[in-house]
Amino acid sequence: MDLSLLASLKPTIKIFYDDPYLKVCESNVIKFIREGGKGYIVLDKTIFHPQGGGQPSDIGLIVGKLGKMDVKKVMEKGNVIIHWGKVEGNFVENEIVNCKLSWPERYYNMKVHTAGHILDYALLNVWNKPVSTVSANHGPNAFIEYEGSFLKNFDKNKIIEVANTIVNEGKNVKSYYVRKEMIEKAIFNAPNLGRIPDLENYRIVEIENVNAMPCGGTHVANTKEIGEIKIDRIEEGTGTFKIFYSV
Ligand SMILES: [Zn+2]
Repeated sequence: MDLSLLASLKPTIKIFYDDPYLKVCESNVIKFIREGGKGYIVLDKTIFHPQGGGQPSDIGLIVGKLGKMDVKKVMEKGNVIIHWGKVEGNFVENEIVNCKLSWPERYYNMKVHTAGHILDYALLNVWNKPVSTVSANHGPNAFIEYEGSFLKNFDKNKIIEVANTIVNEGKNVKSYYVRKEMIEKAIFNAPNLGRIPDLENYRIVEIENVNAMPCGGTHVANTKEIGEIKIDRIEEGTGTFKIFYSV
């Protein structure tokens, strides 16, 4: 299946941005494509976050009158979100279906993703210089890969202390959109200042008094929800290092 063929469909409304805590919704089927016992569904609006920006795809269920999909993977092509999984029965275009997120996995991703923003800040605070990320995984086995050397520049205990102080202070986390001309004013203490993507509009995620950066993920509303950030191990590479962490 060439998924780029679906990219010309109407953009999917991303409910997970307006309310990341919404666990169920009713949506309209725009397109259903079957492939044996599996299939693809495009909806008019969805609570399922696609894989991207280091955040794993959501999983869950889509239930219609004639069938159900066990959603295993969610992808984005253009502005269209595509749900993929095991299909029992059938779906028809223009029918109303019930979507149900598998909440434990999503909530863990929200906590881990927000913790990643806090780690970005903790490194900047300890190093007193802007940091740059190379790659990240904000799900199970979470890590962030940064440029530089951990051993030379950072004290692990100090980073854990700074990060968990922010967790315990219960900082509010909010998201909003800014236009291109406002981006430099909107972001602060953000990583990757040298390579902000060139867009017309940015979604900014801000942890109050900590940092604000462009981000397309889902986050908790308050840092207290994270509980505790643990650094599990650090891998020193060539010119980069990875911090493996969990919450
Ligand atoms: Zn984020």
